[in-house]
Amino acid sequence: MQFSELGLSAELLRAIGEQGYTTPTPVQQQAIPHILAGRDLEALAQTGTGKTAAFVLPILQRLTNPQTSPLQKVTHTAPRVLVLVPTRELAAQVLESVRVYGAHTGLRSLAVFGGVGINPQIQTMRRGIDILVATPGRLLDHLGQRTVDLSKVQTLVLDEADRMFDMGFIRDIRRIIERLPKERQNLMFSATFAAEVRELAHTVLRNPAMVEVARRNAPAELVSHSVIKVDQDKKRDLLLHLFAAHGWHQVLVFCRTKHGSDALAKKLEQAGVRTAALHGNKSQNARTRALADFKSGKLAALVATDIAARGLDIDSLPRVVNFELPNVPEDYIHRIGRTGRAGASGEALSLVSSDERIQLRDIERLLKREIETSVLPGFEPQHTHAVPRPSAGRPSAPKPAQARTRTGAGNRSGAPRPARSGGGGGGGGAKPASHHSGQRHR
Ligand code: AMP
Repeated sequence: MQFSELGLSAELLRAIGEQGYTTPTPVQQQAIPHILAGRDLEALAQTGTGKTAAFVLPILQRLTNPQTSPLQKVTHTAPRVLVLVPTRELAAQVLESVRVYGAHTGLRSLAVFGGVGINPQIQTMRRGIDILVATPGRLLDHLGQRTVDLSKVQTLVLDEADRMFDMGFIRDIRRIIERLPKERQNLMFSATFAAEVRELAHTVLRNPAMVEVARRNAPAELVSHSVIKVDQDKKRDLLLHLFAAHGWHQVLVFCRTKHGSDALAKKLEQAGVRTAALHGNKSQNARTRALADFKSGKLAALVATDIAARGLDIDSLPRVVNFELPNVPEDYIHRIGRTGRAGASGEALSLVSSDERIQLRDIERLLKREIETSVLPGFEPQHTHAVPRPSAGRPSAPKPAQARTRTGAGNRSGAPRPARSGGGGGGGGAKPASHHSGQRHR
């Protein structure tokens, strides 16, 4: 299928061509006709599927058509489209997409989010905008100051709705929705159909079209997963070793905490690996610069927390490293969603200490596959994994037969080739347990 078959206007097709896109992605193919027709939509689509263009393109088209958007004149502080997003980064990225795809439409757009001054936002809003992209907190600030008027909103988009819940924005969202006209189009995008997302969909969407492009919790098939077992206090040295040994570049490294990210970024920098940390305590400027430097290849590593990395639009990242496993197994899926995109292969490597065995087991259950596990000479853990991994075949950790066929698929590309630890079973290859405490360094 071609973009031209979707009924998009010449201005939009031109902008799409300028981006070098030839064919619409599945979510674009499925969602664009419904949105153009004015229907509400519930879409299950993760970052990396092309979901942003899937809603931005038809929204732009409807705004430029007097039949679908009678209010053609830009009204002072009153946008016609409101896109709610969970994070500042996502707000900036959605705005960027609006501007890129809308380059030939003459429509005006603005993103409002916290962490930057509110006054420039107010001034831009006063000059009139068509499309407002906002994080909930900052939008409520504007509503409180009466610097935005939501009475002309004809289309509402809730992007990454599941993340909005994770981040506790649901009450804010409901307060914002109360300020919108009752008659409007509603589009909701989410990576999961968790119960609370369904509930919100139920109350907000009217007779929605359903679009589903990713199986729930389905990881990118092209990503190879691997684990190196190592003690927590050896992880930094191991990571440095991997950077040095393989000349890694553009590696997204996940830590659980802001403090841990800072400490690790510092250590990598000191060792000559160009690194920045990305987390919620960084100023907006620092975050924008870090992301730009990482994308352009200036930085070899970006150390991020889960929240900071949400919705990051980074293409074809070769490698994601989990310096620490996430507590919530679904976050593993979000993390690895940064790699193996758009047909490129990717590698997700996790450095796992003995106190993370439960998280690893939960991730393997979610993936329905065993992750290839190894130890690296010189970094052998001093702890054994006391809890059996799913591969041990215990009744407590059932695995579908199909999962076994995929076992051990990992570890290609420039990956380390560490010594195998004995088939991923419970602690093979590790030295006997010692009295070492295995303390966390966060
Ligand atoms: P998203 O899922 O919106 O975060 O988009 C992921 C990436 O895919 C973005 O970098 C887009 O620029 C890119 N993209 C979107 N649509 C297409 C397309 N039809 N063909 C190729 N790349 C695309």
